[in-house]
Parts: sequence; structure tokens; C-alpha cells
Amino acid sequence: MQYIFLSHDVDWRAQGPSKEHILARKERFADEYIDSLDKINPYYNFPELMDIENNFGVKSTFFFRTIYENGNYLDYENEISSLLKGGWEIGLHLDPSSVTNLEKIKDEKMKLEKLTKNKILGNRVHYLKTDEGLNKKLHELEFVYDSSIRHSKDKIDENEMGYTKENGIYEFPITWMDAYLFTYMKISENELVSVFEKTLDFSRNLGKDNVLTLIWHDNVLKMKGGRMYSKILEFLTSQDDVEICRGIDLVNRLR
Ligand SMILES: [Zn+2]
Repeated sequence: MQYIFLSHDVDWRAQGPSKEHILARKERFADEYIDSLDKINPYYNFPELMDIENNFGVKSTFFFRTIYENGNYLDYENEISSLLKGGWEIGLHLDPSSVTNLEKIKDEKMKLEKLTKNKILGNRVHYLKTDEGLNKKLHELEFVYDSSIRHSKDKIDENEMGYTKENGIYEFPITWMDAYLFTYMKISENELVSVFEKTLDFSRNLGKDNVLTLIWHDNVLKMKGGRMYSKILEFLTSQDDVEICRGIDLVNRLR
């Protein structure tokens, strides 16, 4: 079986970035979104993401930050509540400034637990700026898994898949991430599904059950490239030996 850990990192405050920030990157969007910036924040895609995943019968993990530039994580209260009600998992998207400090990690975890009224078991460091000693601290704080490691920016090989368990924490390296696929790997929309197919074949040829971890940022769904999300799910769910799951489902299986 090829298990796919499906995940989203919520990098931006609920209101999205400033209009200036978006206009400086307007070539990333179809014109219709740029013309309606006063009405629609194109970085906000929770209802669409939930619809797409419901349509394909899959659930994912959303990693939320507690520190947002010019914003407040509490603004996500309604989105988090809808996600939890629908069966999605909420994880912590730890700030890079917290990774070496147990108290800061604890503070972020407690904030998110208070907001979600749930135990937070999974973590991913923002920008993947992790630290060697992090998993030990995560274990001490009763996390069970982390997914913050990518060894290269432009390769998809056996180092970027599977899992390890160290210091009591399952670590899921990142196999695919939207940003790396489109920037460092320069993959076009037309080639995208075949890249997923190639990765799956590579993993199948290793001849064992394997874990492949996918990050699709929630803010990219209306962007060129990012808008291919449903095509990817369509392909992945068409494969008989593929099971798509949340981080915590994988951990429960591996236990
Ligand atoms: Zn991030």
C-alpha cells in the first residue's frame, strides 16, 4: 500500500496578505482574481478545499500557526471548528523562532489546544526550519509526530519518503510540496500529474508499503499551479493501492 499523508500549511493570517503584496505577484493569478481583489481574498480557500476533499472522500491535516504577521490566529476559530466537525485534523505549524525553546513550543501548543479544545499531536515547523533537538522536545510535550524535513529542494527520491521514529516521535519527510514543485523543480501544470505518477512508481518499485507526504498550501488554490489540486486528488484516488490519510491516522496505523 502507498499511504499518502495529505496536509496543508496555513501560512497566512485569515485576511490574507495586503493588496500590495498580491499585486506585486499578480502574474501568479488569473486576471479575474486580480480584478476582484476588493471583494475576494484569493488566499482564502477553506470552503473550496473542504468541498474538494469531501468530493474525493479524503481528509487531511491542517497545520495552523499561533504567530501570524499582522494577524491573529484566533481569527481562525470558525474555520478550525468547521474542520474539526468535518473530521479534519489540526496540527501545529510551529514558528521557527520557537524550535530550540521548550517553553515557546509548549506555549504555542497550549494556545492551539485551547482554541481547538483538542489535544494537538502533530507538528510541522514553518519554512521547515527545524532543529536537531526538536523531536526530543516534542516528545516531552506529548506530540506524537512531526513532518518538517526535506533533504533537498529539487529531488524526489527515497530520502524524501517513508518515515523514521526517533525520540518517540514519528517523522514524515516531505515528498511533494507545491512551492518546490513549481519553483525549484520547474514543473508545469501539464506535467504535474505525471510527476505524481512517477513518484508513486518509484515508491512501488521499492517493493514495500510506503508513506508519501504531500503539502499543498491552503493559500495557493486560486494560483496557477496551485489550482491543480483537484487534478492531483483525482489521480491519486484513482489508484487502487493508494490510501490518503491524515497524519494521526498514519501514526495509529504504524503503532
Ligand atoms: Zn509554513
